[in-house]
Amino acid sequence: MATFLETSIEYLKGVGPMKADLLKKELGIHTFGDLLTAYPYRYVDKTRFHKIRELSEQSGEVQLKGILRKLDVRGEGRKKRLTGRLRDETGVIELVWFRSVYWLLNKLEVGKQYVAFGRVNSFNSFLNIPHPEMEEVSEANLQAALTFAPVYSSTDKLNNKGLDAKGRRRLMELLLNKLTAADLPENLPDYMLERMKLPGRFESVRWIHFPKNQQQLDLAKKRLVFEELFFLQMRLLQSKHRRKASIKGYVFSKVGELFHQFYKEKLTFELTGAQKRVIKEIRSDLGSGIHMNRLLQGDVGSGKTIAGLLCMLIALDNGHQACLMAPTEILAQQHFIGISEQVEGMDIEVAFLSGSIKGKKRKAILERLKEGEIDILIGTHALIEDWVEFKNLGLAITDEQHRFGVKQRASLWKKSKPYPPHVLVMTATPIPRTLAMTLYGDLDVSVIDELPPGRKPVTTVHRTENHRLRVFGFMKEEIAKGRQVYVVYPLIEESEKLDLKNLMEGYEAISREFPLPDYAISIVHGKMKAKDKDFEMQRFVKGETQIMVATTVIEVGVNVPNASVMIIENTDRFGLSQLHQLRGRVGRGADQSYCILMTGFQLSSDARERIATMVRTNNGFEIAEADLKLRGPGNMEGLQQSGMLNLRIADLGRDGEILKTARAMAQRILDKDPELKHPLNARLKKYMDTAERKVRGWGRIS
Ligand code: ADP
Ligand code: MG
Repeated sequence: MATFLETSIEYLKGVGPMKADLLKKELGIHTFGDLLTAYPYRYVDKTRFHKIRELSEQSGEVQLKGILRKLDVRGEGRKKRLTGRLRDETGVIELVWFRSVYWLLNKLEVGKQYVAFGRVNSFNSFLNIPHPEMEEVSEANLQAALTFAPVYSSTDKLNNKGLDAKGRRRLMELLLNKLTAADLPENLPDYMLERMKLPGRFESVRWIHFPKNQQQLDLAKKRLVFEELFFLQMRLLQSKHRRKASIKGYVFSKVGELFHQFYKEKLTFELTGAQKRVIKEIRSDLGSGIHMNRLLQGDVGSGKTIAGLLCMLIALDNGHQACLMAPTEILAQQHFIGISEQVEGMDIEVAFLSGSIKGKKRKAILERLKEGEIDILIGTHALIEDWVEFKNLGLAITDEQHRFGVKQRASLWKKSKPYPPHVLVMTATPIPRTLAMTLYGDLDVSVIDELPPGRKPVTTVHRTENHRLRVFGFMKEEIAKGRQVYVVYPLIEESEKLDLKNLMEGYEAISREFPLPDYAISIVHGKMKAKDKDFEMQRFVKGETQIMVATTVIEVGVNVPNASVMIIENTDRFGLSQLHQLRGRVGRGADQSYCILMTGFQLSSDARERIATMVRTNNGFEIAEADLKLRGPGNMEGLQQSGMLNLRIADLGRDGEILKTARAMAQRILDKDPELKHPLNARLKKYMDTAERKVRGWGRIS
């Protein structure tokens, strides 16, 4: 049997089949429960009356109380309108209606007291209020009328069927009148309500729709936001907990010879504190017998790779193979070359595999892999193909910056028996912590939040077209010092042709300014064959060319420590996180590096804000927070598919603090009482069990 909240919306008084259909189609409201959780998106302050004398063009929405003085129908045809005058003790203002003229004329009564609500408008330098809502109010009822009035989202179709602001409000009143506390049982334990000073669920839902004052509204909001985020975290953490309880992992009990040998003989620098901490966290996972599924976050250049390598050595020390998967051929090759060099002279077989390795070569690698002759396999997504079989894969690392899908990651899990390999996901796309908790909520997260010592922060400046020659001059100075320069153009699919034209024109201008034989230039863009791209890339990596003109294909992970200048063209067309990624290509060596953000003169305020943020800070997390605030979570990479944006009231951009509290609390509860068997947690269990039904399959995001 359907509960009250599951009742179809058509059975609400005043709705009926036709309006129900519209509510479903236009707003996705099917049931009483849906209507109840279609919260207002804003409120209008009707807690006080404005004085007519104090009104101005800037007053916005106002509520007035006065006597209706005059009513006249004026004009003809389409210009026909009803005008009235409202007088309070301080003055008079004109009211005007262009619709429902005769109906209103009939309804309104001159000489009576009304509360009028509307937006102040100026017409021929006279103030008036077009289409005010009029409520006849006796002095006795006045106090009850003083509230924050909710405003619900609506559409033209709904407006035309009487479900406008007022109509929606009336529906909500009807629903709330029928709603009893039993329909909306408390789902948070008393101890939480007390500690957090939160109002009850039933009250909060009433208040969020019809708050008496700001304080009630704030309390209701806090409670409902908390509740939403808390249960979100409970589900994520519970699914993590269950995964850990059910999926066993290989036990890497020892840190052995290879690890120690590498640490003593090969490591040319001291690990940062953050790197040490992260390796410790991973080591404790690997030794626990529980399957590891961990995210390693760290800004570009923070040294994730070396941390990953050390973990691979632990796998090898325990008789297992390891693999590292990167999203592009270039990046995978770089990892292969780098890691091969680092372990040179040690008893470790490293191999490379990608789609471009074919025929006999591929066959040989696959055979040696299956025989266990290869210890570390590095490559592209070719690694997850069915024909790649390991002897005993123990650790799979992906270096991904959001580029691998959930499915791709999952197929790595099948590469080993009886247990899946331990999984480490490395990402350089800084995600605000608040978001990481949600997006990767059922993974463990490690963060390298410290750069290796001696790095000079990249100096970032904003330059416009008229500085072009000075920028060229600066490039020449840097090249004369032996440095290399990137010049990057945006590439956005819809305007691909235009972008290519931009790029080619830029390339020609640079070629004229930097002619052979003094200078050599590489060019890389998406329309080139992989082989040619690679060739050009390699020339730059080897230092044979001084300038790399490219589209954003170079964004991912390329490491050329000698490059000291990053010039970004049409900066306004890049998002913040992308700009940060690009800037991360320089500043990898010991020299001072520069990032020059080029734009035209006309800039949107958003673009200005992005550029100001880039100039102000080098901190990836700070930039990610700014990005989240500017664009909202809906545009954060990776979030869309996660299905986690169906939040009813919480806003991940704004409610970060509450999210942190909610997560910590959920964590503490589940640590002590994972299956929620304690009587104190009975409400949680009951709610999770019933809510679970409706959101089945929900927690499967890793
Ligand atoms: P990312 O986190 O972007 O993948 P990398 O692992 O590529 O960073 O490291 C960037 C550079 O910093 C590499 O050249 C690496 O050898 C170097 N590096 C890493 N850790 C340290 C450290 N603790 N001290 C000095 N240099 C380091
Ligand atoms: Mg890297």
